[in-house]
Amino acid sequence: MRCEVCGRKIHGKSYKVMIERAKLTVCGKCAKHGTIVWEKKKPRTIALKTKAPTRQLPLKIKSKRPLQAAVESTLELVEAFDVTIRQAREKLGFSHEDLGRRISEKVSVLKKVETGKMTPDNKLATKLEHALKIKLLVQASEEKIPKAEIKPVSREPTLGDLVQLDKKKTEDKTQRKQS
Ligand SMILES: [Zn+2]
Repeated sequence: MRCEVCGRKIHGKSYKVMIERAKLTVCGKCAKHGTIVWEKKKPRTIALKTKAPTRQLPLKIKSKRPLQAAVESTLELVEAFDVTIRQAREKLGFSHEDLGRRISEKVSVLKKVETGKMTPDNKLATKLEHALKIKLLVQASEEKIPKAEIKPVSREPTLGDLVQLDKKKTEDKTQRKQS
């Protein structure tokens, strides 16, 4: 089969396109210049298939979420996590082995955590929270975040303003590039 536009042999897929009101069978390269027309049987399903942006959408949302979560909720381990864990475990009648099996964690790790020799990371703390029905991670108190350092509060109309203005412009540009 030959391409009706450029005359070259069509290797692989051929396209039926509308070019200046003529229906032509062309190669992939020439198909870009015309409007692709489909066999009359099922034009709708094919058109839908070629669009299919459904996969990209949830992916985009996913990539944004963990970022927001990290910014919004700064979790902190409670101070007496060692005592809390040990008491909760004993109350439930679990041995170190029992608990270790439940949350698939080494007994040695649990012992270290209960004696305060080791600080559990968020993942382990969350597992312990669920297994022992206790609260180990709490919202970090806001006072600890140094707000003063974020924005300098000088608002004097001086020469410095011009520099600031320039700085702001470039900042805006970089922000736009990032988004
Ligand atoms: Zn061609």
